[in-house]
Amino acid sequence: MAQPAEDFGDALTRPFWDAAARHELLIQRCEACGRHQFYPRAFCRFCHANGVAWVKASGRGVVYSLTRIWHSDDPAQPAPYVNALVELDEGPRLFTTLLAGAERIGQQVRVTWRERADAPPLPVFEAAEDP
Ligand code: ZN
Repeated sequence: MAQPAEDFGDALTRPFWDAAARHELLIQRCEACGRHQFYPRAFCRFCHANGVAWVKASGRGVVYSLTRIWHSDDPAQPAPYVNALVELDEGPRLFTTLLAGAERIGQQVRVTWRERADAPPLPVFEAAEDP
């Protein structure tokens, strides 16, 4: 059974992990300038306003950059595997893992979830057809 989200993260990141437990990808949107950001911050990285709200992301994006990992100490993530920066449709780039078939820069991808025994699910990305 996954660790309850309320025991994971801190006050700033808890909404993200609570939503991850429901397989919802949240990012922040500035209430002043309307731009999105990820990773979470207490203020907008663009205009420095304090009002940032959590919103549900589309879960769709494109592979911006990737690297193949050849060694792993994590039995839950055996090597080789591919980590990537995925540029979400909303703009922010998310550091993540790609599933087989998505390992190409420019590939359209969509979020899916990797369950973990000791933590909330992790967002990972799989190939998606063009919207
Ligand atoms: Zn802003």
